[in-house]
Amino acid sequence: MSVPTPTVSPTPAPVVPHTSPLTTALAQLASTVEILGYDDGMHQMLATPRRELHVAVPLRRDDGRVELLAGYRVQHNISRGPGKGGLRFAPGVDVDEVRALAMWMTWKCAVVDLPYGGAKGGVAVDPRGCSTAELERLTRRYTSEIMPVIGPERDIMAPDVGTTEQTMSWVMDTYSVNSGYTIPAVVTGKPLAVGGSLGRATATSRGVVHATAAALADAGTDLTQVTAAVQGFGKVGSHATRFLAEGGARVLAVSDEYGGVHAPGGLDVAALLEHVAATGSVVEMPGTEPIDNAGLLALDVDVLVPAAVEDVLDEDTARTVKARWVVEGANGPTTSAGDRVLAERGITVVPDILANAGGVVVSYFEWVQAQQAYWWTEREIEDRLEQRMHSAYTAVAQRARADGITLREAALVIGVRRVAEAHRLRGLYP
Ligand code: GLU
Repeated sequence: MSVPTPTVSPTPAPVVPHTSPLTTALAQLASTVEILGYDDGMHQMLATPRRELHVAVPLRRDDGRVELLAGYRVQHNISRGPGKGGLRFAPGVDVDEVRALAMWMTWKCAVVDLPYGGAKGGVAVDPRGCSTAELERLTRRYTSEIMPVIGPERDIMAPDVGTTEQTMSWVMDTYSVNSGYTIPAVVTGKPLAVGGSLGRATATSRGVVHATAAALADAGTDLTQVTAAVQGFGKVGSHATRFLAEGGARVLAVSDEYGGVHAPGGLDVAALLEHVAATGSVVEMPGTEPIDNAGLLALDVDVLVPAAVEDVLDEDTARTVKARWVVEGANGPTTSAGDRVLAERGITVVPDILANAGGVVVSYFEWVQAQQAYWWTEREIEDRLEQRMHSAYTAVAQRARADGITLREAALVIGVRRVAEAHRLRGLYP
């Protein structure tokens, strides 16, 4: 199979005037490179995606109309192993967002020491406006368009915003049918019945709660002593809410794309999950008051878990945060200016590339299992996930203490250094 000539993006400008996930990611990298003392060549290598594929995805709607959607797969780095990262279906997806998310995957995989680089895919589409048949056609066409650059040894997809286990199953099937045999390791986050892993669906959320518990322990407290608010009630936020409550935390507020709910005495999480299963939203949960996004971010709780989308904690919203810990379940929820404000205000941020790494950790376990065609028990998976999260957290917290830097800076220093080291050791060809 021949790989198309990569389109390498121009060297990104170090300062871009407006805030976007890519400006945040590039600013984080620039300050990490400064801490590490790397030269311009290494900075550019780390800032620039190795490969990008831009594809046009024609979607035949159920009524016969054809729409052309923009799709991307960006492999930010492949120095430590194959590209790894989710596939996002969302109306606002553009190549810069995918570049940022791919870069964060590189640092995330390195922080938890997985033998992967970082990648991300996206299609600019609102999946809520698509029938199941339309989603299947679009997923299969996107997969066949990017076939030459993906594969179990090249680049492995997983679910992200707007995609599910079912999406991964279609990706796996399309790739396998075109290859002539079943290749489960080409994607992770698949249903169990087609080679998925126990514990994958809840892994990101479990990881978020392990990271929260570790940060609380560092401050001499634990989950049973704290209140929490969770923004986002999707694949990450809903299970994180449940695990926080199971760990003894009192969750006072949650929100989803339709609105939020607040119970000053603590939400009945079991009843909330039933309400969401019945109605499709947290809104109008009996016994609660409505709360908007701004109100949730500013709520007087100990732990705030942004688990929705990018850029929600900017300079202004960061000033309103009353929580002592912000644990980033989402990718890129805090802008650079927001991050500075939180740091100045003494709020501990457990950064995305550490806090939400549980998902890709169990993706790695799923890939290893699929490669060996030998599946582990749920206990083995949960224990190994907890171990990975704790050792990654401990290394980051130690580095932060030793160097007097934030947890985000420390996580970036560890992740970026591992990638740079692999790059140096491999050398340049030719
Ligand atoms: N989309 C998830 C993330 O952002 C999971 C990626 C994966 O498992 O490859 O971390």
